[in-house]
Amino acid sequence: MRIYNTLTRRLDEFVPIEEGKITMYVCGPTVYNLIHIGNARPMIVFDTFRRYMTYRGYEVNYVSNFTDVDDKIINAANEEGVSASEISERYIKECLKDMEGLNILPATVHPKATEEIPGMIAMIKILEEKGYAYKVKDGTVYYRTRKFQGYGKLSGKNIDDLESGHRSEGHALKVSGSEGKEDDLDFVLWKPKKEGEPYWDSPWGEGRPGWHIECSCMSKRYLGDTIDIHAGGEDLIFPHHENEIAQSEAANGVPFAHYWMHNGFLNIDHQKMSKSLGNFFTVRDIAAKHDLQVLRFFMLSAQYRSPLNFSEELMESAKAGLDRIKNCVSNLSDIEKTGADGGMTEKEKGFLAEASGQQEKFNEVMDDDLNTADAVSVIFDLVKHANTTVKDGATKEYAKALKDEIVMLGGILGLILETREEVLDADIEKLIEERQQARKDKDFKRADEIRDELLEKGIQLKDTREGVKWSRI
Ligand SMILES: [Zn+2]
Repeated sequence: MRIYNTLTRRLDEFVPIEEGKITMYVCGPTVYNLIHIGNARPMIVFDTFRRYMTYRGYEVNYVSNFTDVDDKIINAANEEGVSASEISERYIKECLKDMEGLNILPATVHPKATEEIPGMIAMIKILEEKGYAYKVKDGTVYYRTRKFQGYGKLSGKNIDDLESGHRSEGHALKVSGSEGKEDDLDFVLWKPKKEGEPYWDSPWGEGRPGWHIECSCMSKRYLGDTIDIHAGGEDLIFPHHENEIAQSEAANGVPFAHYWMHNGFLNIDHQKMSKSLGNFFTVRDIAAKHDLQVLRFFMLSAQYRSPLNFSEELMESAKAGLDRIKNCVSNLSDIEKTGADGGMTEKEKGFLAEASGQQEKFNEVMDDDLNTADAVSVIFDLVKHANTTVKDGATKEYAKALKDEIVMLGGILGLILETREEVLDADIEKLIEERQQARKDKDFKRADEIRDELLEKGIQLKDTREGVKWSRI
């Protein structure tokens, strides 16, 4: 596997710290609103990376945080007249719902900033002891940016350019003009309590942590001082990830992450997505119009580092593409039931051997810095292969083998290609009645057949003292 590493600015061969294992941290959303489609891109991309590496035999320890204390959350809470935790809890739930719709696996751990305050305080204390942190008069604790030798190594920024940039651009990056701040480049580790804001006790007084320290702390707690991969959207490279490196490496004394992966921007009709331009879409907005599988498929139709343009037209064409694959799978399913019995013909064996070559091709393109765009093309090639080789008289066995391969490769991309037939409650009840009758008549063969038939439709029967209960699986 070769990964484009933002830190080295080249494609690096992936070598894990521990054989067969991957420790990976992906910066998660700030939960003050429904997630937008820009938030969804890193979630989908890195979930796909995780699924692919798992399929290649790695055990992936995947951590993704929820930032649940932040100015935006506090503002939203004040606007609604509720507590900040009510806002963050609500939107964590909504985010998990959207993730489910997008078929994004839950992380191994989803830590929340508010539950990790002691760890953050401990890390800031270490930074203070080592001379990397200082407190000013109003209680703010800053990171002494210039003291960290490697500052700028991820973003490729030179610290002196940053400084002059500050002066010429006014105060774009300046956090506050708080008295005693030594340098404009210094960033906040801890901020003092303000009226109406959540706060915690700390050695520097009551207050709350800055944003950057949260990821340094959670990554250390759940994955260790040095991890394999740290990932996120490219907008996080500077200053967030640069600051995380400065904090973690100064505190822990070892490299923070070996590989840094960043996904490209998502534009809307070739423009930056923004509320003021009126081109802002939440995942929920998309879900009102499309199956979220279409959004996932659309996002994977580009390599993750390329900028991706979103438009309704492109979504329609993604839908058509996904439908083409799903229709093929559904045809193969039909033939699996109605096709010729007996083993595969010699000709079919030859066709299947050709199809298996596609799996190697799939691995090859995915090993090339997760080229999902080409991986999707491989699946289309298989669909074409199936559509031309599965004809009248095809065997059940051949149809099944092809279907399994397409469904499996789609599954690695997190695409659900097999649709179960929608079964109505009334039909289920009818079959259950028929099964009861069959059992009364001691026709156990028929009774078992009905049970299996229902199971195939995703309905599980349970014989209880009160009668037969059923549930969808
Ligand atoms: Zn982060």
